Amino acid sequence: MSTVPTIKLNDGASIPQLGFGVFQIDPDDTANAVETALDIGYRHIDTAEMYQNEAGVGQGIRDAGVDRADVFVTSKLNNGFHEPDDARRAFDETLAKLQFDYVDLFLIHWPLPTLYDGDYVSTWRTLTEFVEDGRARSIGVSNFQPEHLDRIVSETGVVPTVNQIELHPYFTNEAAREASHRHGVLVESWSPIAQGGILDDEVIGKVAAAHGRTPSQVTLRWHVERGDIVFPKSMHRDRMEENFALFDFELTADEVAAISALDRGEAGRTGPNPDTFAYLPS
Ligand code: NDP
Repeated sequence: MSTVPTIKLNDGASIPQLGFGVFQIDPDDTANAVETALDIGYRHIDTAEMYQNEAGVGQGIRDAGVDRADVFVTSKLNNGFHEPDDARRAFDETLAKLQFDYVDLFLIHWPLPTLYDGDYVSTWRTLTEFVEDGRARSIGVSNFQPEHLDRIVSETGVVPTVNQIELHPYFTNEAAREASHRHGVLVESWSPIAQGGILDDEVIGKVAAAHGRTPSQVTLRWHVERGDIVFPKSMHRDRMEENFALFDFELTADEVAAISALDRGEAGRTGPNPDTFAYLPS
């Protein structure tokens, strides 16, 4: 079994660089999927209130018989709960659904700059309470653009540990990645294989053939070599195993550069633009 490296967050905690994402996994299938991932060796699970499958994540970890302390669990605040009291209630619910007394990492899922009078700063300040009371080991943000990061850091003095952003070879999201690094914030790449969109790419196919690996593996390896954190999602055990086998080969610097050069800028974005995204779940 390959060994997943851990990376140090700016608050001293350690995070496994490879995890398993559960976006779009049906709540009824989540416990099974998480149990399978843990059986393969994954020790980092990325969920969110919005995915409605936190209960399955907690159940899958218990079913796998793995110690809670050995699994890094991330969840995220849903868009409807940015007001401080709502955020407090939502965080209580997250822990109740997981049936855990802490999460390893809790994120603001989206900045929503056009909602809540543009005030994501109070929301960020509220998350710091969860670190103070020990129920979140670390806190961070997701989908924060450079100006959002700059603002929460300058107004609160609290630097997020991670910024989880859309990032894959067709959308390398340079500005948000660079701003994160400038603040000492680690980047987590969501949709790391662009939900399968990069699988037929010619350049990636050539790199994969040169290593006797799959397009998914060389793309995930590309993220890892750039120092970013990934948690691909799959409902298939063989793909989960494939995506886990990243630590017994290396890309050349030229291969990393060739994959980075596939960036299409804004045109490569598959998800919403955080500057305008204003979705409130009903
Ligand atoms: P991914 O880039 O991980 O791609 C998942 C898709 O690719 C699925 O359709 C899966 O199909 C397929 N797939 C996975 N592995 C392989 C493989 N080896 N070969 C062929 N196909 C494969 O997309 P996600 O959007 O799920 O992103 C990963 C995680 O990032 C999410 O689960 C979530 O945790 C997080 N995320 C966070 C967001 C945010 O706003 N913070 C937004 C989106 C995602 P199948 O399941 O059928 O195998």
